Amino acid sequence: MRPDPIRRVVIVGGGTAGWMAAAAITRVLGEMPGLSIELVESEEIGTVGVGEATIPQIVLFNKMLGIDEAEFVRETRATYKLGIEFVDWVRPGHRYVHPFGFYGLDMKGIEFHHFWLKGRELGDPTPLDAYSLGIVGGLQGRFAHPRPDQPSSPLSRLGYAFQFDAGLYARFLRRLAEANGATRTEGRIVDVERDPETGHVAAVVLQSGARIEGDLFLDCSGFRGLLIEGAMAAGFEDWTQWLPCDRAVAVPCANGGDRQPLTRSTARGAGWQWRIPLQHRIGNGYVYSSAHLSDEEAAATLLANLDGVPLADPRLLRFTAGHRRRAWIGNVVALGLAGGFLEPLESTSIHLVQSAIARLLTYWPTRRFDQLEIDRFNAAHVCDYLEIRDFLVLHYKATERADTPFWDYCRTLEPPPGLAGKLAIFGANGRIFREGNELFTETSWLSVMVGQGVEAGGYHPAADLLSDAETLTRLQHIRQVIADTASLLPHQDELLRQMGCGP
Ligand code: FAD
Repeated sequence: MRPDPIRRVVIVGGGTAGWMAAAAITRVLGEMPGLSIELVESEEIGTVGVGEATIPQIVLFNKMLGIDEAEFVRETRATYKLGIEFVDWVRPGHRYVHPFGFYGLDMKGIEFHHFWLKGRELGDPTPLDAYSLGIVGGLQGRFAHPRPDQPSSPLSRLGYAFQFDAGLYARFLRRLAEANGATRTEGRIVDVERDPETGHVAAVVLQSGARIEGDLFLDCSGFRGLLIEGAMAAGFEDWTQWLPCDRAVAVPCANGGDRQPLTRSTARGAGWQWRIPLQHRIGNGYVYSSAHLSDEEAAATLLANLDGVPLADPRLLRFTAGHRRRAWIGNVVALGLAGGFLEPLESTSIHLVQSAIARLLTYWPTRRFDQLEIDRFNAAHVCDYLEIRDFLVLHYKATERADTPFWDYCRTLEPPPGLAGKLAIFGANGRIFREGNELFTETSWLSVMVGQGVEAGGYHPAADLLSDAETLTRLQHIRQVIADTASLLPHQDELLRQMGCGP
């Protein structure tokens, strides 16, 4: 049967989610005959204005769009990111880094960390961080691109992402999308019309009275979920019990010249503070639980802990951790904050937009809107959120902190079942099971388990294929190779200058 194709796609919202969707759809499907992509946004309402740290999958998204990296870095005032530094999360004064990429060197099929665990049992106290080129180089302000063509070098095991100005990224994507045929309409949507027979959204109506009809509506309207909740009543799964932070106060400050290619997260009395260094400024915010801290106290703590002069007044954002029960209903698909939100501790929201767009392109509907496919899409959406939730909860649960009621709550909470299983397995044998296509790799789970002080009860028996003496010598050799390689990497500042970027 010949498919009955979608002709008119209406994207509601022009934040990061809306423009990512417009850029990707026009790039992949733009040549489908008769397909129009129209994005509606309201400058008066504006965007959420945060969302500047990413994870390595963004590199693939940009490649898929055919983006030239140097141009992108220049135009979005981006910096590189090799991981996230966690400060004071286990106890005040403690720090570790969650790196992208892998630890150590290839150990003939056995994960490197089993040899590290064995080394610890033999009395070698070297922290895991010393075995990651991303961490050792990143802490020195150095950056290089991965070299998969050099498998014996630690450079082959690097991963990277970007930190960028969210407003400039949306503008950059808008240019691409418009060049590929997307159109933009300015205006505030005041009404949503539904087809009385199918229940599908038929049109959105603007304050000006203009009516925009569509076959497929992408709800990128942010937290308000104008279509998915407002019109389709999807329902929201609230995860506050596991992730009690529900507010953030954000403020940019001047960048005094520090350009470590790392996002920093510092634990505070009722949450944590982000620090995202861009070329022209540093993004900062305090994510906190309003049950444990007032907005005024949060703003004062944030302002007292900046590395430079504030460049604006602090801005308050309210949210609830969780997701829409169904991200796709009828002819409405929610992307971005309209689909759900998990706090930015591991910089996952933009990735969730990307992964939903990729899935939408895979399940691109016809005007029949096959319910079986919609159900699959929705199940995958929930799964994405669940996996990230468990990883985030690990940071709060595995801590020694009991110095405030907030940390006491986190330390003693009952972990979700998936996390409880992972903690038990690692605690018994030092193993990490990555479920299916789980976003976070073994390296990520390992870095946060070890970083947060979870003890492994054993290691893989194959690590004993090396004698004790060989194990210690090999570990010593690997950290030397990593230290030597790191010392030869260029400073990020130098690299940015070569790419034509100013401070
Ligand atoms: P928005 O930016 O809110 O855009 C909504 C759009 O809808 C706007 O264009 C608005 O004008 C339009 N709109 C709404 N209502 C109407 C209407 N009635 N008529 C017309 N237009 C309308 N993500 C990361 O990946 N990394 C991070 O470091 C990170 N940090 C974050 C920190 C905080 C505190 C928060 C809250 C979020 C963070 N995020 C982060 C998430 C990230 O900001 C979002 O995922 C991303 O910006 C996408 O937002 P959006 O496009 O869905 O929504």
